[in-house]
Amino acid sequence: MSQLQQELEQAVNLRRTFAIISHPDAGKTTLTEKLLLYGGAIHLAGAVKARASQRHVTSDWMELEQQRGISITSTVLQFNYQGCCVNLLDTPGHKDFSEDTYRTLAAADNAVMLVDAAKGLETQTRKLFEVCRMRSLPIFTFINKLDRPAREPLELLDEIEKELGLIPYVMNYPIGTGDRFKGVYDRASKTIHLFKRSGHGQREAEVQILPADDPQILDYIDQDLYEKFLEELEVLDTLGPEWDEQALHRGEITPIFFGSAMTNFGVELFLKSFLEHALKPGVHDSSIGEVSPVDEEFSAFVFKLQANMDPKHRDRIAFVRVCSGKFEKDMAVTHVRSGKSIRLSHAQKLFGQDREAIDIAYAGDVIGLNNPGMFAIGDTICIGKKRQYAGIPCFSPEIFAYLRNPNPSKFKQFRKGVAELQEEGAIQIMYSVDEAKRDPILGAVGQLQFEVVQFRLQNEYGVESQLESLAFSVARWVEDGWEALDEVGRLFNTLVVKDSLGRPVLLFKNTWNLSQIESDHPKLRLKAIAPIA
Ligand code: GDP
Repeated sequence: MSQLQQELEQAVNLRRTFAIISHPDAGKTTLTEKLLLYGGAIHLAGAVKARASQRHVTSDWMELEQQRGISITSTVLQFNYQGCCVNLLDTPGHKDFSEDTYRTLAAADNAVMLVDAAKGLETQTRKLFEVCRMRSLPIFTFINKLDRPAREPLELLDEIEKELGLIPYVMNYPIGTGDRFKGVYDRASKTIHLFKRSGHGQREAEVQILPADDPQILDYIDQDLYEKFLEELEVLDTLGPEWDEQALHRGEITPIFFGSAMTNFGVELFLKSFLEHALKPGVHDSSIGEVSPVDEEFSAFVFKLQANMDPKHRDRIAFVRVCSGKFEKDMAVTHVRSGKSIRLSHAQKLFGQDREAIDIAYAGDVIGLNNPGMFAIGDTICIGKKRQYAGIPCFSPEIFAYLRNPNPSKFKQFRKGVAELQEEGAIQIMYSVDEAKRDPILGAVGQLQFEVVQFRLQNEYGVESQLESLAFSVARWVEDGWEALDEVGRLFNTLVVKDSLGRPVLLFKNTWNLSQIESDHPKLRLKAIAPIA
């Protein structure tokens, strides 16, 4: 084995790359901070947020963030824990969901589903879960906020199994919740980790660990709670599934952890188990077949573009996920779509708002490349044998609006801006099939995408725009194209439009209308995800 090969094997074995999927307020920011705390990346948990709020307004982009008090710029965080190099791809974390949230999952090897113990599964979690399922990602579940009144743990497990079709395997189980939260039982070691309320968990939590059958336990846990716990444990032991790591890796079983991110409780148990069982960077499908992460030829694909973070340069950053080989600063690679050779001279690692130059990266890592308009979502860069990784699909938008240009004299800029923003993946653009209606129809998964488009049209292209909402909430691509559509004739309660590639798309007011059309026209094959062009 060559020296490089050895180096690659070692790097890949130690890498774990994941994203957190959750609904706003479930505690993603808190959990992220606590993971970083254990990873030693910050010493006082809370620093991520503190730093973010101290930050000055340095760009137009951030001005928009500031106005709305949200964080658009998502980050890639890397930290070390017990010899592993962990990449946490932070999905844009706010009420405003965007397509980037979906795309980030294309770059992750594992997902952590964070659930609020009082609320159970919520809408955004379900949507993101669907994307994980499509990719068969291993899913780890962290049920959070046990220090607050919560739903019955068994009921939460049932919900995950019934509604997601994901088999829960309990790794640790809570004893009591809310004011009576006493700790968790770790099934692997058969020990109880006792919970101590301490500040806001600025440091690693102190834990007291006792064997589950230690009589001393009753000094800490009331008899009734302990008995309830033993009964439920018996249910899990007799009715629960066997542990099966392969099934986890196929996305069929989800290991379940209970805890309280705010007080750090259960975070370390989770992290250790996650590192033990998570998938390492694996093979990726490409136009030349499967590419191994330890293949010596460097390759990567673009999964996200971010514009205008630096007002002086109006630059764009292309986030690429390394799939194979070793990235080295200044290396020359082929940009496969254009066939051009480019030098990767300004690669960056982003930590919160700070950028750090990056010299070396391996499969599983994410790097930010300065992008002078060269990259589009889904592009591949590589050395050696040319290959193209499977693109990143477009997901069904859920909100739609006509975008109007009130100043005919700015027609050119308007058209250019819309085209560029569409190419960059900031928004999906569709057009009416009625020639008289020339205004583009914007399609997005979150309101924020509309605002970003209007803001950038104004700031970068100097054009005003107006939105006129359309009362649709579901889009479906017609799999067999225009002919298939002609065959079924007129469809009621449906708007036929074409996407940026001229393919037919149907817009429905709601899922009920969609089901209606599906049952009336069983031959019409409709897809929620656009076929990759
Ligand atoms: P995000 O929107 O998912 O990023 O959620 P945050 O991390 O911002 O958390 C939302 C709120 O829940 C904040 O007020 C947190 O302090 C609180 N929170 C997060 N984790 C816990 C927890 O384990 N226990 C309790 N009691 N509150 C929590």
